[in-house]
Amino acid sequence: MGNPLINIQGLRKSFGGQEVLKNINLQVERGQAVALIGPSGSGKSTLLRCINLLTIPDGGRIAVGGQSLAFQGAATRLPSEKQLASFRASAGMVFQHFNLFPHMTALRNVMEGPVTVLRMPKKEAEERARELLRKVGLAERADYYPDKLSGGQKQRVAIARALAMQPAVMLFDEATSALDPELVGEVLNVIKGLARDGMTMILVTHEIGFAREVADQVVFMRDGVVAESGPPQAVIGNPQNEATRAFLARFHRAPGQETSA
Ligand code: ADP
Ligand code: MG
Repeated sequence: MGNPLINIQGLRKSFGGQEVLKNINLQVERGQAVALIGPSGSGKSTLLRCINLLTIPDGGRIAVGGQSLAFQGAATRLPSEKQLASFRASAGMVFQHFNLFPHMTALRNVMEGPVTVLRMPKKEAEERARELLRKVGLAERADYYPDKLSGGQKQRVAIARALAMQPAVMLFDEATSALDPELVGEVLNVIKGLARDGMTMILVTHEIGFAREVADQVVFMRDGVVAESGPPQAVIGNPQNEATRAFLARFHRAPGQETSA
């Protein structure tokens, strides 16, 4: 590996006595899409949250772009608030639930971060927000409030809002899991477009067909460890680990749960 854009080494996290991440190592090259799969409770969300410092790791090292942080439990000396904010800003996060500001239009939701956090002039922020809404197929919905948007539209606004902060990488945590089945495809298509445009991303997904199509690397997590990783044709097409096989078999048995957009 050359110079990965995301480099996670020896990452550890416990909650109470339970070790939820046990020595996680993961490298993501610039422009790569990584699909993170695995059973519920295996630590996928915690891993994403650590990359964005929503959860502070107990040990290990995380580098995103040129910024790197090392963690040593209670002895960890976290950098200043300003440096933390700068580290956080390098990763845009999209959650299962949209968390849009209900009192703001789609356009204002997308403008808000750049104006208040990046101190971008309003006119420029608006131009960029309109461009991003066009990119996610919502140019015509710019002036709608969230309660007038479908779940899929809201999630696409949430993606535009994250992109507006110009992150180096995007993290998607089950971005389509809360959506009605008929709305899943439009959101996956936006994510697919971003991957095609070269956005570096890690996506936690249960859409195995989508992972197989879009991901450069598939990482299967189980009980806080990376049990198997590699190209999709290997991990999904020909899994070597018994746990990966058992996990994937669930999807073959329930074809209704699999959506390939
Ligand atoms: P996944 O996203 O793969 O379903 P999570 O990362 O959400 O898994 O959770 C991994 C484990 O960590 C679970 O057992 C969960 O209950 C536990 N966990 C996650 N967040 C917390 C927290 N804030 N406090 C205590 N336990 C947590
Ligand atoms: Mg999760």
